[in-house]
This record gives sequence, structure tokens and C-alpha cells, in this order.
Amino acid sequence: MTAPLLVVDHVSKRFPLKVTFADKLTARLSGRRAGGAVHAVTDVSLSVDRGEVVGIVGESGCGKSTLGRIVSGIYAPTEGTVTLDGKPVAKGREDHVNKLTTRVQMIHQDPFASLNPRMKVGETISEGPRTHGLVPSSEVRERTRELLQQVGLEGAYADRLPHQFSGGQRQRIAIARALAMQPDLLVLDEAVASLDVSIQAQVLNLFLDLRRDLGLTALFISHDLSVVRHVCDRVAIMYLGRVVELAPADELYARPEHPYTKALFASVPTLGTGRRVFEPVKGEIPSPIDPPPGCAFHPRCPFAGPRCRVEIPRLTAAGEGRSVACHLNDGGVEAKAA
Ligand code: SF4
Repeated sequence: MTAPLLVVDHVSKRFPLKVTFADKLTARLSGRRAGGAVHAVTDVSLSVDRGEVVGIVGESGCGKSTLGRIVSGIYAPTEGTVTLDGKPVAKGREDHVNKLTTRVQMIHQDPFASLNPRMKVGETISEGPRTHGLVPSSEVRERTRELLQQVGLEGAYADRLPHQFSGGQRQRIAIARALAMQPDLLVLDEAVASLDVSIQAQVLNLFLDLRRDLGLTALFISHDLSVVRHVCDRVAIMYLGRVVELAPADELYARPEHPYTKALFASVPTLGTGRRVFEPVKGEIPSPIDPPPGCAFHPRCPFAGPRCRVEIPRLTAAGEGRSVACHLNDGGVEAKAA
């Protein structure tokens, strides 16, 4: 067996809250400590094999984008390690970590915001390879044209500016820019979420073609269950910063195990499109500043028992490549006898 390309090992990320003078005063008067932190990602471990596409799914604020940024080296983890081919991806100071690797490339939700409006798309695509000496100067122009053609655009578009393209075309340019760096891993963060449904399908089909032709490895972050099913081999479900279920996509869609995954799958088809979207899970998402004790899902879980309120469930094997973090799968939800 070959080693996984990407290994995320017990990674956590906390963002300290800014403490103002008023906060300090209020804390002193109330006898509490000032400050605190947003627990964006907590103790996440997963791996991605070469040629594999792993989906990260969850509601807004579940930590999936933060995890993507940690894997991309944009954020350094507070705890844990991320390795690519056995070498650390993210380390050092927060504002420098993104310079440590070119082997992971991120594709963002909003292609317009991620492209320099004053730079011709050819320059945008070739900037990275030029800076890092990946392509000889004499070949840069030809390589840029090839990349544009690879993502379904004409080579002559290299001389145009981003505003001359549609949203779908701009996302194709963003993909070409990422591929130009010859990455080992792509991180797609809601990469088709801002596009119309028909354009989404075209960009997803392009991704599938590129995956087949280039053997791409990717983390595919999305809140859209239909999109994830279409492109992913395995899927991790995140809730309040933790992975609560990880399984092969077919298995997960056929038989969700974790109560939160089941709640997500209690979704409704959108009229006319055949797509499925989240039906809001009952109850409020708890604050990531002060996550509930025990299982973070217990305030919303219909199966919660006394044990769930005090003991954090660990991600444990639950058959054929599946892991689930729920006391229903590890001894029951009743309090353990002392
Ligand atoms: Fe529900 Fe308890 Fe399982 Fe958490 S551990 S999902 S509260 S049954």
C-alpha cells in the first residue's frame, strides 16, 4: 500500500478574540476571564490518497473552509500537523506560511475577487510559474495558451481582462491558474457555489475531465450534497469544527450513520432543478466560541443521552472504510457506571 499524499493529523485551529478595554472591565466586574477564542477546527484527522477526491461537507461555520486554508498553508494550525508527501505543509508565522509551498493550490468561490481586474488573464495564469521558474521564459506564452485550451477557453483569450468573461469562464481561468503551478493537491472551496446551476454542471464536468486526464488529487469543500456526490470518492461531514462522519461517498449517501449526517440528508429537492439542498437542521448552531460540553451536537440531537452531555465522542471505525463520532456507535448514550 502506498502512503497517502495528504495527511491531516489531529489538527486544531483557534482564533483568539480581540479583547477591548470594555471587555476587560466587564470581565473584571463579573468575575470572569476576558478573551477567549473561536474554535474553528478541533482535532481533525484525515488523509487523501493520490488521485483521490475527498469532499468536506457541513453547514456554514462548521470549519470546512478553515480546514481548507490550513491544508493550503494559508493558516498555520494551532495544534497538529499537515503533511504532503511526508513533508510539512503549514508551519511558521501565519503571514508567511502561504509562501512555503506551491504544491497545494486553492480555488475559491468567487473567481472575480480572486483575479486581478487590471491584469490580463494570460499574465495571471503565467505569474506563478514565472515567479517559481516552473516553465522556461521562452515557453511561458505557449504554455498559457495550452492551459486556457485545457479548461475549454481559446488561447487568444490570454490578452483579455477578467471583466470580459462570464462567471463560469472566470472560474475556468482560476482553474487554469491553479493547474499552471503543477500542484500535487487542489483545494476547491465552494468552487462552483456562486455559479448558475447549468454553469455549475459545465465546470464540474470540466473538473471531472481534468481529473481523469491529469489524475488530480483534491479536497472538495462544499455545502451542496448533490455536487459532492457527483465528484467525490469519500466524504467527511463536519460539525462545529469536528469531523463527525467519514465514509466512501456511495456508502454515505446510501446509509448515513451519524445523527447529524442523517439530519443533513433530510433535505428537499429544489423545485424544477432536481437538486437537493440542506433543510435547516432543527435548533441553533452552538457558538464556536463556547462549544457545548460532550458531543457538540447534543443540544440538537434527538438521540442525545446523559453520556452525550459530558463525553466527546471519538471518531471510530464503523465498518467498510467508515468512521463515525457518536456514542450510539461506541457503547450507547447512557451515562457509564462509575
Ligand atoms: Fe447524538 Fe449523542 Fe451521537 Fe452526539 S453522541 S450525535 S448527541 S447520540
